[in-house]
Amino acid sequence: MNIHEYQAKALLKDFGAPVAEGVPVFAADEAEAAAKKLPGPLYVVKSQIHAGGRGKGKFKELSADAKGGVRLSGSVEEVVGNTKEMLGNTLVTKQTGPAGKQVNRLYIEDGADIDRELYLSILVDRTVGRPAFVVSTEGGMDIEAVAEETPEKILTLAIDPETGVTAADSAKLCDALELQGEARSDGETLFPILYKAFTEKDMSLLEVNPLIVMENGRLRVLDAKVSFDGNALFRHPDIVELRDVTEEDEKEIEASKHDLAYVALDGNIGCMVNGAGLAMATMDIIKLYGAEPANFLDVGGGATTEKVTAAFKIITADPAVEGILVNIFGGIMRCDVIAEGVVTAVKEVGLKVPLVVRLEGTNVEKGKKIINESGLNVIAADDLDDAAKKIVKAVKGA
Ligand code: ADP
Ligand code: MG
Repeated sequence: MNIHEYQAKALLKDFGAPVAEGVPVFAADEAEAAAKKLPGPLYVVKSQIHAGGRGKGKFKELSADAKGGVRLSGSVEEVVGNTKEMLGNTLVTKQTGPAGKQVNRLYIEDGADIDRELYLSILVDRTVGRPAFVVSTEGGMDIEAVAEETPEKILTLAIDPETGVTAADSAKLCDALELQGEARSDGETLFPILYKAFTEKDMSLLEVNPLIVMENGRLRVLDAKVSFDGNALFRHPDIVELRDVTEEDEKEIEASKHDLAYVALDGNIGCMVNGAGLAMATMDIIKLYGAEPANFLDVGGGATTEKVTAAFKIITADPAVEGILVNIFGGIMRCDVIAEGVVTAVKEVGLKVPLVVRLEGTNVEKGKKIINESGLNVIAADDLDDAAKKIVKAVKGA
């Protein structure tokens, strides 16, 4: 689960991190009062969407030379003007895809006098199985280019969960970020704070880009992007409250209501599979035969007919889906339950695209019988390979 920058900053502030003063704004008439709460004379109006690259982003509705999604403003009037121009419009950034995202919230923040822009993030480094800091002196809006062209300017430092951030770790991070004087002691305080927030709140990513050294020599968290591990959310009701469903994929929201492991993708073949491993293999083999999956979906081991019906409805409701592949290896999951679910869903919502079904395992004969007697126009497949070939052929031939 992701949250907005202003929410992430409030959270990090609670842990003691240095962030600027700021006020979130949901309607244009709130902008003036919000700006007047800040010291000025420099303000920043920041689009709040769950995507990065806002500074260099472009609004669809505005001319190409209009300013981006993060705007420095020199007066309260300018804040109000920028708010009116940005709120409600669609921001397209490198991370939103061409459709962009509607900006429904803004964050009005105290402007900082920036000396240097640094990069800092914490993530789970799977190669060593530990949380790791990733830092670079080359922070700001071009960090992707740094990673590609000069990766030696990026330091990755894994942290031992037994000890947390040690003084030696902090020193290495300070050295890599070339921090001196007050900025260095700010860093020594900040790194353990960020690590604590990361681990206590079960984050999967905490990215501060940029972390800045201000002209007065102090450090400040200027941008914050935070993702949480969905499997740990039950431990954090305070975090769940920050969820903004308008930022999420409707199909994924519906799936989460039914406790389905579903991830929307860009392809055109809808997949319904049991077991995450089989679901991954199914996506791979669809790609192998030259097509793209529209989703990842694991209906799980103990799925009921209702759950399968819900899953099938989510797949068919996706306008990008031009064919569906049901691939079930019945272990704990019984093939007849899947068959019932598919038949029930098709009766309710109809079937406008080719459907290939491959069933194997527990109660396979019962499952096949249910499908055969349903009168549905189903293409039966013998195995995974056969199923993938058939659905790709059906979609490409259509
Ligand atoms: P994004 O990463 O989505 O483009 P950022 O929050 O990183 O958005 O903002 C982009 C750039 O705008 C920053 O790299 C920084 O140069 C500038 N900026 C952002 N917030 C402030 C601020 N409070 N004061 C001064 N400059 C800012
Ligand atoms: Mg940024």
